[in-house]
Amino acid sequence: MVADLRWAWVEVDLGAYARNVSRIVRAASPSATWAVVKADAYGHGAVPCARAALDAGASGLCVATVAEGLELRDAGIGAPVLVLGEQPPEQFPAAVAARLALTASRTDVLGALSAAAQSAGVPATVHLEVDTGMHRVGAEPEEVAALAARIASDDWLDGEGCFTHFAVADEPGRDDTTAAQLAAFRDAVRACGRAGWRPRLLHAANSAALLRGLVGGADGWIVRAGIASYGIDPDPSRDEPQGFEPVLSLCARVSHVQRRRAGEAVSYGLRRPLDRDATVATLPLGYADGLRRDAWRECEVLVGGRRRRFAGTVTMDQSMVDCGDDPVSVGDEAVLIGAQAGARITANEWARRLGTIGYEVTCAISRRVPRRWVA
Ligand SMILES: *Cc1c(COP(=O)(O)O)cnc(C)c1O
Repeated sequence: MVADLRWAWVEVDLGAYARNVSRIVRAASPSATWAVVKADAYGHGAVPCARAALDAGASGLCVATVAEGLELRDAGIGAPVLVLGEQPPEQFPAAVAARLALTASRTDVLGALSAAAQSAGVPATVHLEVDTGMHRVGAEPEEVAALAARIASDDWLDGEGCFTHFAVADEPGRDDTTAAQLAAFRDAVRACGRAGWRPRLLHAANSAALLRGLVGGADGWIVRAGIASYGIDPDPSRDEPQGFEPVLSLCARVSHVQRRRAGEAVSYGLRRPLDRDATVATLPLGYADGLRRDAWRECEVLVGGRRRRFAGTVTMDQSMVDCGDDPVSVGDEAVLIGAQAGARITANEWARRLGTIGYEVTCAISRRVPRRWVA
């Protein structure tokens, strides 16, 4: 495809990703690992990552939308897939027919799922989400018994799992809150049992909780691991979690080179006059590709193995880099995230400089940037 020849691309190291997943599988064991590949695997490519994760020992996959689940099924992936979060009931028939497990936390959702299952002629696989403190979605703990009884009494509902989600597992020094959520979740699971429903799978931990050893239980418990599998620490003050490898690189080739004089400025606003004569390299990558427009203030780019500042504002499709007096030619490779000649810039470095988290940095890289998967 001509798009793949673009002078801007993402390289995804599937070998590194697979090693990270194996590491998680070993750390979580005897709990099972489900790889979170929502949002196109955090920008890394859902289908190749899903396949690599399953080969590396993941037992299932998590996505955020029905369309993301169907993309995996259309690619021939038959492994268990859980759609996290509430979905429009109009999508239930397609989701049930594709054997996607759906999240539910209200009786109206259970009713709609049961109806979709009856018309599809196959039971709907359900995971009940309990809100133990995140306060995003999920059933209130006092509603759990009634929901569990509803699941237990309906043959069209296969109540496979029960789960909760942590609010502060990624923040150092707040493990007490996470432990309290885990305790509330265990209470909810006991309430399910008293109501006559015993879910086969229980899950709470995300990457951060796994890294802190707050998984919950062993047999029948699963870990939903996303960010660590991509070699990014959930805490942006660190780069990779200990022992994990970075997976994604964001690269471009220099598309134009110009020599500018001291006092001249480049790009919209002409905001950063050069303090000396300098060679300015243009990269064909801009905010429509997911570089934040204000990245030019703080972020750096590798060209010729050295860190460089942006010479001016990031534009929609291009950005300019100050290369000083170093030789630069059209076609030279630039690395925005990744390594070059021993120098390295991580997604979490971008996150720190932009006041966000690594998740947002890689998820923001738009579909316009072709992905290259290497083994
Ligand atoms: C995104 C998500 C995860 C994965 O979290 P990581 O921090 O990337 O490991 C797990 N569970 C739920 C409910 C999520 O929405």
